[in-house]
Amino acid sequence: MNIAIYPGSFDPITLGHLNLIKRASKSFDKLIVCIMVNAQKMPLFTLEERLRHVKTVTQRYPNVEVDTYDGLVAEYAKKIDASVLIRGLRAMSDFERECQMAIINKKINPQLETYFLAADEKYMYLSSSAVKEMARFGACLKDVAPSELIDEIAQKMRMGQEVK
Ligand code: ADP
Repeated sequence: MNIAIYPGSFDPITLGHLNLIKRASKSFDKLIVCIMVNAQKMPLFTLEERLRHVKTVTQRYPNVEVDTYDGLVAEYAKKIDASVLIRGLRAMSDFERECQMAIINKKINPQLETYFLAADEKYMYLSSSAVKEMARFGACLKDVAPSELIDEIAQKMRMGQEVK
C-alpha cells in the first residue's frame, strides 16, 4: 500500500492545509495527517482540539486518517510504513526551511521521499498565524478557515484577549 504522511502543527487547520490534503489524497492509497507536538511552539489549540478539528474537516475523504505524534516525523513514517512525506510550498520563504528539513528527514529515514505540492494561488499567503491574527481583530474567516471551525476559532481568540 502506498502510504503518505502530511505532518504539521495545524494550529488551526486552514483552507490552505485542507486544499493540500484534498489534492494529495488523490495520489495515495492512504494519507495520514499527523499533528506534530512541537515543544518550541506554544499552540493556541490543545493537541486534542486540533485532533478533533482535523478529523472533523477531513471526514469527507475516505482514505485520510488523522494521528498525533510526539517525536521525529521521519521516525513516525518508519513506524507506519509511509514512503512519502507531503509538504506544502507557499511563497519563497518556505523553500529554504523545507529543503533543509527534507534533507534531514532523508538522513534519518532514507526510505522516505519528500514531495512538495505548490500552494494553490488562492492560499499562497495563507498560514495558521494569519488566521489567528484575522480572528483577533474580528475579521471574517469565511475564505481562510473551514466553515465548521470558524465560530470556535473566533471564540478562542476572543477568550485569549479577555484574559490578558
Ligand atoms: P509546520 O509548523 O510544520 O510548518 P504548519 O501547520 O504551519 O506546520 O504547516 C504544515 C505544512 O503545510 C507545511 O509544509 C506548510 O508549508 C504547509 N502549508 C501551510 N499553509 C499552507 C497553504 N496555505 N498552502 C499550502 N501549504 C501550506
